[in-house]
Amino acid sequence: MPACDLARVESAAARIAGHVLRTPLVASAALTRCCGLPVHLKLETRQPTGAFKLRGAMNALLALDEDARRRGLVTASTGNHGRAVAHAARAAGVRAVVCMSALVPAHKVDAVRALGAEVRIVGRSQDDAQAEVERLVAEQGLTPIPPFDHPDVVAGQGTIGLELIDDLPELDLVLVPLSGGGLAGGIAVAVRALRPCARVVGVSMERGAAMAAAIAAGQPVDVAEQETLADSLGGGIGLNNQLTFRLCHALLDGVVLLTENEIAAGIRHAAREEHGEVVEGAGAVGIAALLCGKIRPMGPTAVVVSGGNIDAALHRRIVAGDAPS
Ligand SMILES: *Cc1c(COP(=O)(O)O)cnc(C)c1O
Repeated sequence: MPACDLARVESAAARIAGHVLRTPLVASAALTRCCGLPVHLKLETRQPTGAFKLRGAMNALLALDEDARRRGLVTASTGNHGRAVAHAARAAGVRAVVCMSALVPAHKVDAVRALGAEVRIVGRSQDDAQAEVERLVAEQGLTPIPPFDHPDVVAGQGTIGLELIDDLPELDLVLVPLSGGGLAGGIAVAVRALRPCARVVGVSMERGAAMAAAIAAGQPVDVAEQETLADSLGGGIGLNNQLTFRLCHALLDGVVLLTENEIAAGIRHAAREEHGEVVEGAGAVGIAALLCGKIRPMGPTAVVVSGGNIDAALHRRIVAGDAPS
């Protein structure tokens, strides 16, 4: 598989401009006070689909030729990538099929359906959903848009890194939610190329952190998928991972793992201290890592707030201070 480098990220930025939002980087007064250093939030929650995944999905779709588009798109998703593919497919006027496991929250499934995509619920893991994708590619000739392990998807997510360096040239540390590693890998490619001295650190939940386990083992390993507040970070990286494992292994400066209570504190902080920002568990892990002190910034810091798609009732309970299960 072709690699992902700065040139590829820059082409992605040119391709998706006008199709996705260039999101704001806002100073966080509360986290700046807490850390004693400037802390900024990159608000991917503002994307029309509520998460950064639109960048990679849109870039991958726009890179396809007419024939591949016409055959229709198919993908497996924990929710946000499926929503992004559905949004991009609708904008391009093509068919999309989104395969999701029974662990994907109902509100995320509904959002995919509302965009006109066909939904298939299969099994109880990302691996089960992925098996259905492979069947549909073989039987119906649909075009797969993988959630992370694809150079155009990684390059699309990497455009966040370009914007970070543009908006905060003195950047010293970026905290990036980490699951399959498309987001962290893409951002690391851009930040490493443009500002080699800056650190890029991944943040995952303790419950089923597949990329952290793979980096520790030196190769992709099987990790059991578990329920977590950071539902968008669930699932494996694929034992046959082609690209994102290599990128994350080579380019990340570390991975921080969080408990469910720490993630809940991140969600609560965003709602109470960051002007009522509604952030889902996966999107709040960077904030949570700073709050619990598991990462110590040493210079200007950016936190990628990757998504805001959380069930409203769950969000209310967490903000009210109920402990997660
Ligand atoms: C998918 C997702 C992530 C993780 O992205 P990867 O590229 O799989 O590492 C983080 N946050 C949110 C909100 C997501 O939807």
